[in-house]
Amino acid sequence: MLHSLQPKHFISSSTLRTPSRCPECKRRFRCGNGVMFLSHYREIGTGEMRRGLMCFCSTTCLLHWEPRTMLGLMQ
Ligand SMILES: [Zn+2]
Repeated sequence: MLHSLQPKHFISSSTLRTPSRCPECKRRFRCGNGVMFLSHYREIGTGEMRRGLMCFCSTTCLLHWEPRTMLGLMQ
């Protein structure tokens, strides 16, 4: 569980330099240039809805990824 609201306390600088691929648009980018968000995804196999810290290339992709029902307070 996270015990701080400061990203630098739980995300190492090496993680931010890691090449990543956007789960929404599949574009490659450096994680530190993207957007991290506690996102929802459906586990392959069980189909169970889970949450995890994910890195997207942009806020646009993040908003496309998240199910509309999970963005209720943002609409
Ligand atoms: Zn993207």
